[in-house]
Amino acid sequence: MIGDRFGRPLGSLRLSVTDRCNMRCGYCMPNENYVWLPRSSILSFEELDRIAGVFASLGARKVRLTGGEPLLRHDLDRLVALLAARPALADLALTTNGILLAEQAAALRRAGLRRVTVSLDTLRPERLREFARSDRHAAIVAGLDAARATGFESVKLNSVIIRGYNDDEVVPLLEFARDRGLELRYIEYMDVGGATRWSRADVVSRADLLATIERALGPVEPEPSRGAAPAERFRLADGTSFGIIASTTAPFCGDCDRSRVTADGTWLLCLYADRGFDLREPLRAGASDADLAALIAAAWAERTDRGAEVRLATPGRGVLHPIERLKADPRREMHTRGG
Ligand code: SAM
Ligand code: SF4
Ligand code: SF4
Repeated sequence: MIGDRFGRPLGSLRLSVTDRCNMRCGYCMPNENYVWLPRSSILSFEELDRIAGVFASLGARKVRLTGGEPLLRHDLDRLVALLAARPALADLALTTNGILLAEQAAALRRAGLRRVTVSLDTLRPERLREFARSDRHAAIVAGLDAARATGFESVKLNSVIIRGYNDDEVVPLLEFARDRGLELRYIEYMDVGGATRWSRADVVSRADLLATIERALGPVEPEPSRGAAPAERFRLADGTSFGIIASTTAPFCGDCDRSRVTADGTWLLCLYADRGFDLREPLRAGASDADLAALIAAAWAERTDRGAEVRLATPGRGVLHPIERLKADPRREMHTRGG
């Protein structure tokens, strides 16, 4: 397995299959208009699978499909089947907003998808309508229930907690997850591209979350070390486990084995990276797998990215990119790079 300048392996790949979305979460897509990736630049399933295969040959074992909203990509189960046929990719997962999950869960499972994470930040349909401009709350809950019934190896819930939006739902969300046998992971609000309304004051930190949970539900114990996984895990006295992804106040770049490929084949070595490597151009120009592997290995060997740690150390931290910079290069958007 190859390592970067800090010895971090190239272990997991997030593949964004589309930059389109059927929601408009206030922390990700708050603006009125977006510049989309040109249709002709979007990689086919065969191209995405080939890229995943090259990463697997360099040691990657995990692939997570994301977006935009990945379930908007027609026949996504076909891509899942291609990836599932690669034994090296032992861990195949999906992050989705859940709206279309009820209708697709069975086909995705049959195709070989192992794990699903559904993003849901509020139990109140009217909040979803206001904050994410979606009236599909019931569809998301139905998607979660369908995923549970389908027999995935794990179904998780991701909730971004933001002051003044859903910080009064920290405990109800945990109870909702516990009642359904799901593991909840709280995500700190990040100042990534797209989060044009971000402010430090709106971040509900890991420390705030733990204090709120302990006040309501009693002592919280840390669970054993997480390795390269982003979530730190905790347990309540009744055995309920939950995670916190504290990318904003306690980043974990030191163990980061993740990189991401956008739907147009731009490879980003960090969520915060300003520029990526174009894999589409060589792919479509006839590069062999060995050529692609050499390009990727050479770039990874030079990787020094620690984006979230750099942001934490930035005095007067504000938004990462103003709207004009996002419009100038939509690959800076969170909904393009996939979270
Ligand atoms: N549309 C899918 C979904 O929402 O699950 C997949 C893509 S979305 C970009 C991936 C994850 O990024 C979601 O869990 C979402 O909540 C998270 N996310 C987006 N913007 C964020 C921000 N500013 N801070 C923290 N998490 C964010
Ligand atoms: Fe929300 Fe995911 Fe869509 Fe972003 S990509 S607006 S987080 S549903
Ligand atoms: Fe990895 Fe970059 Fe996220 Fe740090 S900020 S954990 S280096 S992707």
